[in-house]
Amino acid sequence: MSQTENTSLWREVYAKGVQAAAESLGQAETIELTERYGTHNYHPLPVTIVRGEGPYVEDVSGKIYIDCVGSYSAMAHGHLSKFVVGAAQRQLERLTLTSRAVFTRELALFLQAVCEYTGADMACPMNTGAEAVETAIKLARKWAYTVKGVPSDAAEIIVAAGNFHGRTTTIVGFSSEETYRTGFGPFTPGFTIVPFGDLAALEAAITSNTAAVLLEPIQAEAGILLPPDGFLAATRKVCTAANVLLIWDEIQTGFARTGKRFAWMHEDAAPDMICLGKALGGGLAAVSAVAGRREVMEVFKSGDHGSTFGGNPLAAVIGVAAMAELEVLNLAENSRVMGDRLIEGFRCLQDPAIFEVRGRGLLVGLEVKPGTDIARLTKAFLAEGVLTKETRHRTFRFAPPLTIGPAVVDDILNRVHHALETLPNMGA
Ligand SMILES: *Cc1c(COP(=O)(O)O)cnc(C)c1O
Repeated sequence: MSQTENTSLWREVYAKGVQAAAESLGQAETIELTERYGTHNYHPLPVTIVRGEGPYVEDVSGKIYIDCVGSYSAMAHGHLSKFVVGAAQRQLERLTLTSRAVFTRELALFLQAVCEYTGADMACPMNTGAEAVETAIKLARKWAYTVKGVPSDAAEIIVAAGNFHGRTTTIVGFSSEETYRTGFGPFTPGFTIVPFGDLAALEAAITSNTAAVLLEPIQAEAGILLPPDGFLAATRKVCTAANVLLIWDEIQTGFARTGKRFAWMHEDAAPDMICLGKALGGGLAAVSAVAGRREVMEVFKSGDHGSTFGGNPLAAVIGVAAMAELEVLNLAENSRVMGDRLIEGFRCLQDPAIFEVRGRGLLVGLEVKPGTDIARLTKAFLAEGVLTKETRHRTFRFAPPLTIGPAVVDDILNRVHHALETLPNMGA
């Protein structure tokens, strides 16, 4: 690194405004700058998006796509929800950041709203999903030492193979994906991995030092994998019997995505703590939180944890607006109905390239058969104006905004049908 003095960039930005400076970049230059100056930890679709509205995004050439990536389910409200944007705009004229050195009315309202929405007693605001998971891990460990009586530094947390909980060093340390881990050790000890959806394995892994079980109720990044029916409720029972905390990571599955407020609500499986993120930010900002039972949450004492931006007034009003819109527009019910229509529609395509269609609500995975040319299919989806990207196991994720109606669902089905038709027939 070196000291730099080039002032033309700053002058241009300051004179024209940031948006005008960005708008002067074409597709090729955008990609060139991103690849030259950015680390290569993502492999984006070759599309430069300039605008969004509802379920649609527009690229730099004016082509319109249906956004089925939906920012990995963070875009539940659709692009530029009027209600959420309006709340943010009014807050931008008033107060945006204070740190937690003082109280704000916005944070007070946010904490109340998170607890009402989740059924929790208390909540701790953060920014990103990974931070929410880290926060839950700290709470679970301190609860184990101070309430359960686990000997110090011996607490264990049980997680599932195929999990995705974020990208910090502690979290990737208990991932079972080699690409997430390789080169980043040494890792935090204290985690036990069991197969996802395997109740006997989970039960067998519990010891007197187990603080918590941390699971996604549906493994989204792993390819939209649903556990066997009854697994969520059975896990709740096992945890209660063993005095072990149950933590659902609902960062991707929460906020109406699966047809209920939270995916655990499909069964009798209320958690002790829940990790929240993504759609809590209303498609505008990074807003996350952990919410849970008082006995667990109150182990945090002054100085135990914190975040400069966590719970800031702008994030707080965005979070409150995001939850209010989901509730008032009954987007959980819409997600259920539209999700059923999408899943049923995919199945009815009976395309020979489709291996399986899985999902709940508008969290849908379309798994194609082994040997399918993934790169070619991705291109065909783009040509048809559908933004979707494969997760693991040849599964394309469809997580469009929860605001879509039947016409958009049918449009997605049509476009996917056409994209699949461009594949060479591999035989049934
Ligand atoms: C996205 C995600 C995270 C991490 O959230 P970030 O905001 O990317 O840190 C954690 N858990 C699950 C289930 C997720 O889908």
